[in-house]
Amino acid sequence: MKDFHVHYHLDACGHEEMTMPNIERACIELGIDEAAVLKHYSQQLPNGKNDWAAWHVQGSAELDKFLDEYKAYQPKQVVFHSGVETELLNDDGDINIPLCDQEKVDIVQLSIHFMISTKKLPLEFLLYPNGAFSPEFDTADGQKQWKDWLDKVNTVGAEYLIEATVSGYMNAIKRFPKVRSLAHMDNGLAHLYNYGADVDSVSISRRIEIFEPLMKLMSDRGVNWELTAGGMNKDMFKRARELGVNFTCTADGHQLYNGWGPLAKHIDAENTLNKLMNM
Ligand SMILES: [Zn+2]
Ligand SMILES: [Zn+2]
Repeated sequence: MKDFHVHYHLDACGHEEMTMPNIERACIELGIDEAAVLKHYSQQLPNGKNDWAAWHVQGSAELDKFLDEYKAYQPKQVVFHSGVETELLNDDGDINIPLCDQEKVDIVQLSIHFMISTKKLPLEFLLYPNGAFSPEFDTADGQKQWKDWLDKVNTVGAEYLIEATVSGYMNAIKRFPKVRSLAHMDNGLAHLYNYGADVDSVSISRRIEIFEPLMKLMSDRGVNWELTAGGMNKDMFKRARELGVNFTCTADGHQLYNGWGPLAKHIDAENTLNKLMNM
């Protein structure tokens, strides 16, 4: 098995046990023979500050420290790759790490951790990943601003936002060759649900149609579509497979065996993938 999304102790979210020797030992026990170890990298956060939600501004210095530790370790049998997890920022495909630092790692895992900015709808309202208002908006008139945001979301419409998401991913893949995987992608629409878009008003067949160019590009460039145990729509999965997309599984491990997101749960994502393949 392969897991290209394993977190490291140098990030605040990564448990102190997530060192290279411990990660390799756990991978061997779990039957993972190839893995990417990731450093979070965010050169900016949506609130313009150093810390927001689960994320912290992280740059070259933190990456270099990670790479020093990563390279000092000699793996015994697992094939490792170095990587960063960073964010897609907008529909132009800007991502949250400069090119010079992308070049230092084997893979860029590209996530959407918060709503992307689009031409018709710049990111003007902040929600934590659990859907709670970010403190900047958790004010007396936050409710009014949320209503204004929802009006704008409805005006541009869910279909536009799905198209903009696909454009963002495609532009990033075309512009940045180190983007080798779309992180915890599943249906690729969680951010739109979270930010109030009426995604379900767009039929599955239309969603698949919008995603097809991205599926083809991922297939051509060998960019992985990462699945979690959450899985995805079976028709969308089927079409992506037909177009040659490679799926990989992850637990998005921040701990080894226990805690809210352990590597040991990798098998759950494999089971989800196997179920999709047999549907
Ligand atoms: Zn993530
Ligand atoms: Zn992650």
